[in-house]
Amino acid sequence: MEQIANLLNGELMPPLSGQYMDNYNPSTGRVYSQVPSCDQDDVNLAVESAKKAFEKWSKTPTADRVSLMMKLADLIDRDKEALAIAESQDQGKPLWLARSVDIPRASANLRFFAHAVMNHKSVAFTDTANVVEYINRPSIGPCALISPWNLPLYLLTWKVAPCIATGNTAICKPSELTPMTAFLFSQLVIEAGFPPGVINIIHGPGGVTGEALIQHKDVPVISFTGGTKTGAHIATQVAPHFKKLSLELGGKNPNIIFADCDYEKALSTSVRASFLNQGEICLCGSRIFVEQSLYPKFLSDFVLETDKLIVGDPMSKKSFLGALVSQQHLEKVKSYVQLARQEGGLVHTQEDVVGLDPTLTEGYFMRPTVISGLSHECRVQQEEIFGPVVTITPFQSEEQVLAMANSVPFGLSASLWTQNSDRVHRVGGQIKSGTVWVNSWMYRNLRAPLGGMKHSGQGREGGDYSLNFFTETQNISIRY
Ligand code: NDP
Repeated sequence: MEQIANLLNGELMPPLSGQYMDNYNPSTGRVYSQVPSCDQDDVNLAVESAKKAFEKWSKTPTADRVSLMMKLADLIDRDKEALAIAESQDQGKPLWLARSVDIPRASANLRFFAHAVMNHKSVAFTDTANVVEYINRPSIGPCALISPWNLPLYLLTWKVAPCIATGNTAICKPSELTPMTAFLFSQLVIEAGFPPGVINIIHGPGGVTGEALIQHKDVPVISFTGGTKTGAHIATQVAPHFKKLSLELGGKNPNIIFADCDYEKALSTSVRASFLNQGEICLCGSRIFVEQSLYPKFLSDFVLETDKLIVGDPMSKKSFLGALVSQQHLEKVKSYVQLARQEGGLVHTQEDVVGLDPTLTEGYFMRPTVISGLSHECRVQQEEIFGPVVTITPFQSEEQVLAMANSVPFGLSASLWTQNSDRVHRVGGQIKSGTVWVNSWMYRNLRAPLGGMKHSGQGREGGDYSLNFFTETQNISIRY
């Protein structure tokens, strides 16, 4: 059985302890590879290697760093099919999605930040007599880059690219549930010719490997994407050490549909926004609010469209949803459907996954689920489920829907469907979330800030926001 290796100091290395964990294929429910279970000793080695590499890499001309990043992007493109298959097999997502979104976005992340860093500007102040001041942006050191299992290579490269472009070195800790594309990426890092230690990738359980990494005294920067609970834990651990910390956390995003919307667009986009990637995207619109006059029609059409979605083999072009990432996660998501019933909700959609190939019957599949009749204050409408489950709730007025939309502790993203431009400004600006999409969902311009208000995070990622995060802000004040 294939054993995944760490990338340490430019080499593929087994864990020092020799300990591995099972890695499951979510669509078969079977173990198909082994992932290193790294501990403090491996983390020490990784940090040491990143520290040593930082001395040279931080002084390497930006153009040279950029040319290696472009080479790495080309290698991802060369291997895009193998990477897409690996992502689909490891995560459970449909292959067509890994092919069209995850892997192209991984190489795009590297190219985007390679261009961005070459155009990264800083300001100067010359308004004081005989003094000129300019803002210097030095790199900081070894950075811990911790990423989740839902968009594994996409989110890993989203952190690696700005980190190394600005002259830092990286110690990545992918999720133990989806280590495979990070492993394949490790091999491409070596092939691209990066100096040893610039990018290190270390595998293992979050509570052990991740914890040792965030606690390490020689890691001054932590960029974390994952659950709110883990983010809060990390924040409390590192606060006394004043580490630079970026947190991209969970969401419970409202999708608000007014009766004056472009109906067909709102309906079809809402189906995608609810169930793409099995609903395992932090930006999914998991709480749909529909204006009362449109509600009965929307609910019935939405349920009809949802029941048409095919759940099944991730390798099949026909499957809109593949498998959920793990047995444990499947149970968690299903428990919310149970809870919804206890809270008085009505489940409208079919529940049995039918027509699976006999090799997939142990896989972690579930049908997309639509629930109505719940108070916006109940647990199912307040807690992040992170699976193919949405609630639909009617509203009477702008004030009412804003109160319901903003009633959760999260504030990551929202969608707003209306053709009334006054309403766009009036309502859009009052939604407490980092991004508000009007008449669309998940449009991403990589220069724009992405991040959350309230418990959805701290800081923003994208373009200059990322480049500034991975650099210090230093004022050089010169009297002449
Ligand atoms: P987790 O918080 O469980 O894990 C995220 C990462 O942190 C994993 O690599 C995990 O490792 C690691 N980790 C766990 N415990 C620690 C620790 N004590 N110290 C350091 N690292 C640790 O999140 P999930 O992987 O379950 O991801 C789903 C969550 O991510 C959802 O809440 C989702 O909304 C959020 N998310 C947010 C995004 C955003 O941009 N705001 C984008 C994508 C997802 P391991 O898995 O090995 O335990």
